[in-house]
Amino acid sequence: MNYKPFLKINYFLLCILITITSCKKEEPFFNLTSVISSENKGQTVVEGDKIIINLNLSEELSEDLPLLLDIVDDVPNFINPEDYDKTIQFKGNLDNEWRTASGNTFYFPKRNTSLKIRFATHDDVLMETKEAFHAVIKLDTSKTDNDFMVMGINEIEPPLISVEDNDGDPDTIGEGTVDFIVDDDFNFSLVSVSQERPYNRFEKYFIDYISKDGLPQHIYEDLKRVLKSGVDIPIRRFAMLYYPSLQLGGFVYFDLDIEGWIVALNIAYAFPDIFSLGSFVSDPQTSEEFDQLLQNDYNKEGIFGYVLVHEYGHLATLNYETQIDYVDYFEENVTDCSTYSNFEGCTKPESVINGFYDKFYKDSPELNSPSFVTEYASSILEEDLAECFAFSIVQNEIPDSDEFSSGALQKINFVWKHEQLSSFNFRSFREDIHLGLLAEYFQEGGPILNYSKHGKPLLCTDHKKIIESLAERRKAYLENN
Ligand SMILES: [Zn+2]
Repeated sequence: MNYKPFLKINYFLLCILITITSCKKEEPFFNLTSVISSENKGQTVVEGDKIIINLNLSEELSEDLPLLLDIVDDVPNFINPEDYDKTIQFKGNLDNEWRTASGNTFYFPKRNTSLKIRFATHDDVLMETKEAFHAVIKLDTSKTDNDFMVMGINEIEPPLISVEDNDGDPDTIGEGTVDFIVDDDFNFSLVSVSQERPYNRFEKYFIDYISKDGLPQHIYEDLKRVLKSGVDIPIRRFAMLYYPSLQLGGFVYFDLDIEGWIVALNIAYAFPDIFSLGSFVSDPQTSEEFDQLLQNDYNKEGIFGYVLVHEYGHLATLNYETQIDYVDYFEENVTDCSTYSNFEGCTKPESVINGFYDKFYKDSPELNSPSFVTEYASSILEEDLAECFAFSIVQNEIPDSDEFSSGALQKINFVWKHEQLSSFNFRSFREDIHLGLLAEYFQEGGPILNYSKHGKPLLCTDHKKIIESLAERRKAYLENN
C-alpha cells in the first residue's frame, strides 16, 4: 500500500492550518480579555490647574480603542462652560508627546496599557463657588462595530471633578454665604464666596449672578434704604445666603475685630414658592428663568423685606451710638450696670431698649393678652423689641393704645412713638421698600425667623449658634440629596 503521499499532503495541510491559527493568535483584532478601568473616583483641582484622568488596560490591544469623554454637569454646583478648556489631550504610556483629541473623541493607542486624559481649567478673576461635573468615558461606537464592547467600559464610574476658586478671601461668614465689605457710603464690595456645594442650581445661579453683576439694584436699594436709616451705625459687612427653607431668616452681630456690625440675610425668603412644602418645584432651570424670578418675583410674596426690617430693628436698639455702652465682660462686672444689661453691654438710661425693659419686663408687669406680636417675640426681650419695630413698619395702621390694650399693641405704640426713633417716618419707610408679605399674614403667631435644629427659636444675635446650625443642617441636607 502506498499511503505515504496522502499522509504527506495531510501533514502539509495541517501545517498550514496551524500556521494560520497561530498567526491569528499573535494578531487578533482586539484582545477580548483585556479590561479597562479608571483610577479616578473623584478629584478636586484649583482653577487654572489641569484635570487629569487616568485609564488602565489589563492587557494591551493590537488596535486603537476609540473613546469619548462627555462632561456632564448634572450636579447643583455645575461648572460653567467658560471655566474650562474644551481641548482634550491624551497620552499613552508609550507616547512621548501629548496628542490632541478631535472634539471630545480620542483613543487608547494600541500597545499601550495606561492612558492619561487632560484638559485645563481657566484661572479667571471672578469669585465663584466650587464647581463640579461628572467626566463620563464611553466607547466611541461611531468608530467601532456596534457589537464590540471592551470589558469594564460600562463599569467605569464617572469621576466627580471639582474645581475650586482661587479668588477672594477663602473664609466666609457662614457656610453658603456670599460676603461683602460695606464702606461708609454704603457701597458693597464682594470679598468672598462660599466654597461649599450649593443646595441646588438656583443657589448656583444666584452666586454666579452676584459675582458677575453684584446685588440686583432693586434688592440693593432696599438694603440701603433700611440699613442706612436712622442714626449712623457702622455696618461693615453684609452676607447674603440662600437657605431654601423657612428655618433661617437672618442675623446681626457686632464684631469687635472690625469694630462694626455684620448683617446676614437669607434671600430665599424673597421667593416663597421655592421653599413651600420643602419642594423645589419653582426652581428656575436656566439662568434666564433665574433672572426673571429675581426681577419679577422678588418679595412679591416672600417675607425677606419683613426680615430685613426686623434685623434693622436689632441695629436700631442694640447699637453703641444711642442704645448701649460696651462692657468688656472679661474685665468688668455686669452688676456695675444700673440699667438693663445684655450680651452687648449696659444699656443707656434713655435708650429705647432700656425704656422697653422698664415698661414691659422689669418687675414682670401683667400685660393683657396677646402680650407679644408674634411667637418669636416671646423668646427674649431683644427679639420682642425687633419684632415690635418690624410691626411698627409693616402694619397698615397702628391704633392708639392705653392700659386696657393688649401688651402687644402697647409695645408697638411704645416703639413707634419713641423719641429716639422719631427720625423714622414709619409710613413712608414702608412705601419705600419692597416689603413683601405684610403684617396681616403674621396674625396667627407669625413666623419664627430662625429655628434651631430642635425647632426652638434661634436668636438673631446669637450668631455662633446660627452659624453652627447652618453648617449642621446644610450637611444633613446635602447628605440626603
Ligand atoms: Zn431677631
